Amino acid sequence: MKVAVIGAGVAGLSAALNFAGAGHAVTVYEASNRPGGLASGFKDPTWDWELERFYHHWFATDTDIINLIDEIGQREKLFFPTPVTSIYIDGTIYPATPLWKNLFLPISLISKIRYALSGVYLRFTKNWQALEKVTAHDWIVKMMGQEVYRVVWEPLLIGKFGKYHQEVNMAWMWARLHKRSVKLGYFEGGFQAFNQALCDYVGNLGADIKFNTPVQKITSQADQTLMVQTPDGMQTFNRVLSTTSPGLLRKLVTQLPANYLARLQNLKSMGAVVLILALKHRLTQGHYWINLPKSGELPFLALVEHTHYISPEHYAGDHIIYCGDYLEPDHPYFSMSQAELLNLFLPALTKFNPEFRPDWVRTSWLFRETYAQPVPPVNHSANIPPLATPLPGLYWASMSQVYPWDRGTNYAVEIGRRVARLMMQDYKK
Ligand SMILES: Cc1cc2nc3c(=O)[nH]c(=O)nc-3n(C[C@H](O)[C@H](O)[C@H](O)COP(=O)(O)OP(=O)(O)OC[C@H]3O[C@@H](n4cnc5c(N)ncnc54)[C@H](O)[C@@H]3O)c2cc1C
Repeated sequence: MKVAVIGAGVAGLSAALNFAGAGHAVTVYEASNRPGGLASGFKDPTWDWELERFYHHWFATDTDIINLIDEIGQREKLFFPTPVTSIYIDGTIYPATPLWKNLFLPISLISKIRYALSGVYLRFTKNWQALEKVTAHDWIVKMMGQEVYRVVWEPLLIGKFGKYHQEVNMAWMWARLHKRSVKLGYFEGGFQAFNQALCDYVGNLGADIKFNTPVQKITSQADQTLMVQTPDGMQTFNRVLSTTSPGLLRKLVTQLPANYLARLQNLKSMGAVVLILALKHRLTQGHYWINLPKSGELPFLALVEHTHYISPEHYAGDHIIYCGDYLEPDHPYFSMSQAELLNLFLPALTKFNPEFRPDWVRTSWLFRETYAQPVPPVNHSANIPPLATPLPGLYWASMSQVYPWDRGTNYAVEIGRRVARLMMQDYKK
C-alpha cells in the first residue's frame, strides 16, 4: 500500500509508525518545519530544554502514549512530578491537589459533602453513556449543588468552552475526573524532544517525512487512487489519512458529499491563545496551575507557572508563566498584537503576587491556534464521523473524534494507531 499521512502531529506520526512498521510505503506531509503539531515546542537561545507552545503534561493513566514511549525506547526520559493545581476564588488561591485539599475550599459543609460523594461516584462509575445525555451544568447543579458549580466547575467550563460552557455534556467532565492523576508526566527536554524521538523512529522505519510541505488538495481519481497536491507537485496514493481539523478537511477535499461536509461543519471547537512570559522571579508560591473565574477581574482564564512543575534550571533560571485562554476564533485576542495583549495581561499578575512589576518580564512569546479544543454537546457520540470518510480510500482521524475522553496526545496516539490498523485491514479486503 502506498499511503499518505497529512500532518506530522502525534496522531499522524503514530499512524505512520504502524504503516511503516508493517512495511507499507508511507509519506507524511507536514505544513510546518517540525513535528508535534499542537504539542510542538520552541526554544529560547539561552535554554537547555524546549518549551511547549501550549502548556502540556501527561496523566499516569495515559497508557497509549506511555506504551509508545516504551516502544520507541525512550522510557527513561519520562518522569512524573507532583505539582499543585489550584483555584482562584475571590482573590485567594486555594490548592485543589492533593484531593483532600478540596476540604478547605470556601464552600459550606453540605456543599463539601455533596461534592465529595459525587466525586467518588464519578471516579468509580463507568457508565459515561448515561452521563452524555445531560449537560455538565445540569448534572453538577443537581448533584453537587449551585455553590459547588459556581465556585469549582463553572470557571473550568467557561475557561475551556466559553459561550458553549452550558452545552458541554457530563460525559466529558466524567472523563476528565476519571483519568486525572495527581502525578503529571513530562519528557526530558520537553514534549518537542518526544516528538522528535518519535519522528526519528518513524523515519528510521522507512517513512518519508516531508516538512514545510502543506497539502493543498486531495482528489479522488477514476481508478480509485487519490491524488495529493502540494507546492512540490502531485503524488498518487492508494490510501490517504488526514489528521487535520474538520474545517481544513472540508477545504482540502471538495469531492466529499454535501451531507458529510455539513456533519463536519457541525463539529464545534474553541481556539486557544497563550501568552508566555519568561520572568526574572517566581510569581506564585508553588502553584503550577491556577483555574481562574470569568468575572471580568482577570483578562485570561488559566495561569500556569510551568517552573513550579519543571525546574527553572532547564530554562536558564527563567520562571515561565503561561497566561492562557480558550476562545472563539473571531475573539479580539486573535487579532490583537503581542504588545496589546501584554498591556492587558501584565497588570493582572499583581493579583497573584503584589510585588510583580513589568520589569520582571525578560521576554515573551505569543501563540494562537484556531482549532484547539473540540466541544462535546449532549449525545455527542451520535455526531462523531467515522474514521473512514465517504470518499473511497480517504480516512480522517482528529481531536474531534476523540471521545468521551478530552483530547490529548495520549488519544492522538490511540486514534492514529487505530485508524492505521483499520486502513490496513480495509486494504486487504
Ligand atoms: C492549549 C492546549 C493545551 C493542551 N494540553 C495538553 C496536555 O496537557 N496534554 C496532552 O496530552 N495534550 C494536550 N493538548 C492536546 C494535544 O496537543 C492534542 O490533542 C494533540 O497534539 C493532537 O494531535 P494531532 O496529531 O491529532 O493534531 P495536531 O497536533 O493538530 O497535528 C496536525 C498536524 O497537521 C499539520 N497540518 C495542518 N494542515 C496541514 C496541511 N494542509 N498539510 C500538511 N500538514 C498540515 C499541522 O501543522 C500539525 O502538525 C493541548 C492542546 C492545547 C491547544
